[in-house]
Amino acid sequence: MKHFITFLLIGFILTTLINCSKEQSKPNSSTIEEIPFAIVIHGGAGTIKKEFISPEKEKEITNKLQEALDAGYAVLKKGGASLDAVQAAINVMENSPLFNAGKGAVFNSAGKNEMDASIMDGKTLNAGAVAGVQNIKNPINVARLVMDSIKHVMLSGKGAELFAKKYGVEFEEDAYFYNERRWNSLIKMKEKNGEKIQIKSTKNLSTNYVDEHKFGTVGAVAMDKNGNIAAATSTGGMTNKKFNRIGDSPIIGAGTYANNTTCGISSTGTGEYFIRTLAAHETSSLIQYKGYSLKKALHEVIFNEIEPLGGDGGMIGLDKNGVVAWDFNTEGMYRGYKRSTGENVVKLYQE
Ligand code: ASP
Repeated sequence: MKHFITFLLIGFILTTLINCSKEQSKPNSSTIEEIPFAIVIHGGAGTIKKEFISPEKEKEITNKLQEALDAGYAVLKKGGASLDAVQAAINVMENSPLFNAGKGAVFNSAGKNEMDASIMDGKTLNAGAVAGVQNIKNPINVARLVMDSIKHVMLSGKGAELFAKKYGVEFEEDAYFYNERRWNSLIKMKEKNGEKIQIKSTKNLSTNYVDEHKFGTVGAVAMDKNGNIAAATSTGGMTNKKFNRIGDSPIIGAGTYANNTTCGISSTGTGEYFIRTLAAHETSSLIQYKGYSLKKALHEVIFNEIEPLGGDGGMIGLDKNGVVAWDFNTEGMYRGYKRSTGENVVKLYQE
């Protein structure tokens, strides 16, 4: 009798366990939703303070950042790749005059908009970049084409433009990129440096100068439902840049880095310092070799490596567990993230 009861009890436990595991492996919609995914973006760092930004502008910027987050998130939600998500988010910001990328790119010393962009796949460590390109509507799309279509990683200047034409990428006239605010920043900077102003605007110049107070580069990092991380950055670089200067944004390891085993990173700030410290890769290495958390690694690179050299800016990141973090040593950074857990955050100022 005793044996019979024990036998019944074991049978009951086994049946319950089998049913339980069957239940868990059932592909229902709730299990699909439970796979975490996330996107984090930035729209540049700098002297971003509440007193410098009108409530209307603040709303405009916040809404555009939200639109970019939503565009990237929509890709992830329907099971799309993190590479497509970061590209979608960046396209929204490249098409807005609010940021220093694509349409809103700053002017170089010759009064032209010269742009840099890069993208990286954390699964394959494949990457693509363009530097010093003009008249391309969405430089990040060309960086993606470089990554997907040819063996090279980085193309520059006229060659990159030829490549883009060959692949049917959208080009725009100079007038599309003209932005009075940016033009006035260039003139003001030249005046401040005592430089001769030999350039002319394509449009009528107003004397109404608005200081930029920020860098404005855009970036995005995402993790998709397969746990793949991608990172991307797009910029017009620095106002009044000379001699085909190239910043950190198109440099893999400086402005952009992604590796599924550690994290994805996008940087913004004075590019020279991010190049010298290889900021994005350095952050990944601190996680890989020193076991730092993403948050600690970002802080270490910005405050103990970039700042002592005299550099300023910030970085956003997402680690292999989907944890989002950011840090900056400027007064603000346009930033936000959206996760499958329901969190949705957009911030502009220091907190
Ligand atoms: N990092 C960019 C550059 O140096 C500028 C920026 O972040 O706004 O080109």
